[in-house]
Amino acid sequence: MKKNNRRKWYAAATAAAMCISMTCTQLPFSIAEETTVSAASISDMPEEYQYAADWIWENRIVRENSLGSSGARWNSMFDQIVDGKGTLNYVVRWHSTRTITLEQRQKLEIALDESLNAWTDWLTGYENWPYEDVEVRIVGWAVTDPSLLLDLQPDEIVYTDTVEYVIQPGESSEIPTTMANAPSELSRFDHFWDESYEYPGGLDNRFDQYIWATQGFPDYGGCGGDWGQRLSDTYYIGIAEGTSSQHVQIHEVGHGFGITDFYGGEGESDGFPPGGFPGGGTSIMMAGSSSVITDFDGWLLRYMWTKLQDEAGRFDLSDALPDETEPTTEPTETTEETQPTSTPPLPCSFTDTIIAKTEDSITFAEIGTFSFGDGYYDDDPARNLSNYEVGDVIAIDLWYHPAGSTILHVDSIELIHNSRETVGDVNADGQLTVADVIMLQKWLLHAGELTDAEAADLCEDEKLDGYDLAMMKRRLIQG
Ligand SMILES: [Zn+2]
Repeated sequence: MKKNNRRKWYAAATAAAMCISMTCTQLPFSIAEETTVSAASISDMPEEYQYAADWIWENRIVRENSLGSSGARWNSMFDQIVDGKGTLNYVVRWHSTRTITLEQRQKLEIALDESLNAWTDWLTGYENWPYEDVEVRIVGWAVTDPSLLLDLQPDEIVYTDTVEYVIQPGESSEIPTTMANAPSELSRFDHFWDESYEYPGGLDNRFDQYIWATQGFPDYGGCGGDWGQRLSDTYYIGIAEGTSSQHVQIHEVGHGFGITDFYGGEGESDGFPPGGFPGGGTSIMMAGSSSVITDFDGWLLRYMWTKLQDEAGRFDLSDALPDETEPTTEPTETTEETQPTSTPPLPCSFTDTIIAKTEDSITFAEIGTFSFGDGYYDDDPARNLSNYEVGDVIAIDLWYHPAGSTILHVDSIELIHNSRETVGDVNADGQLTVADVIMLQKWLLHAGELTDAEAADLCEDEKLDGYDLAMMKRRLIQG
């Protein structure tokens, strides 16, 4: 892997995780279609798939950088599996107060294996993909209370370090406000950019992804990305027991491979290819349209691997198989230890008014307060929140850390309302009213503060005085 710094890869975070709110009714249980045609290379792809695959590649995957090619966020599931020599390790964050039985935990591991291999079966025997099967393991449980893991076995690893979970606007109050994390030192997500990093206890002890099982999450809404998948605790019990369809998990895993959602309309920037999906017109990545990986979906994954495997320096396929001679190392001490901990970032998009700002935080009227993470705006002034004023209304796409609501990266900001355009709006409520006159009057009498002092300089002479007040009154009268 190419060495990189943390700041740089956050710049590539766009669309590395996506969310769905599936409102479709529950589809009948089914697993992914088996690959029926053994295909050796991209030249075997049905001709009628070419246009749609090209379109999705160019207009969605590359444009949204969902495979992290630009900025070298080399942490897709392709990267994780190859670096793991054909394995993918999960930690289950049991963000729930419900118990889970030993049998359910064991069955969950099998269901996760099935959901992942439903995708990777399409790669078996295809263009240098080195694996017949990907071994999926649960290598740890992060849980606030270990007694929730019934009949806990000596070989099960439990992490109990907790952080506060801040319930976001629109989320259920049923979501527990503490949650457990696994150690950052074992997280691939926290280290993939560092090619010299060695996991304590060796590769087998690292984890690539979280299953984030959240109580109070909607049954058919979820998030997925290179950090893992997040669905409700009851959904994960459901797929363990075979009473819920795996298709939502499979959809979220698709995001881990960099496949986008297809929410928008035909040919739209967030939509599906002009002419629709070939071969049936559906996709498991178009929420609600298919409960299985379609033939086209499978070919899309292959197409992506064809493109990706040649990316310079990204994959070392000469070292992609398990090394039999690799010495076994001491497993790390596990239970109840280690700081710091790792939490996947979450994407968030909203339009809101800035109502307060400090050197290291910003407060929005509806959404609340975020703190600024290190290097979150990537030296781009347009994404630096310090350059926006109280009273500005902005539409923002950002990534934040749920613990502490720290902004990790800002993808984009659009200034919807510039408070400074409303000259005289010293209380930054978006309009010039008599309240602004009163505020400036008080300030001139040293009897109060201005929320937005810049807005008071109507004369534009860099001074605030009675002339500004006079102009403000005149403007107010003139409407
Ligand atoms: Zn999705």
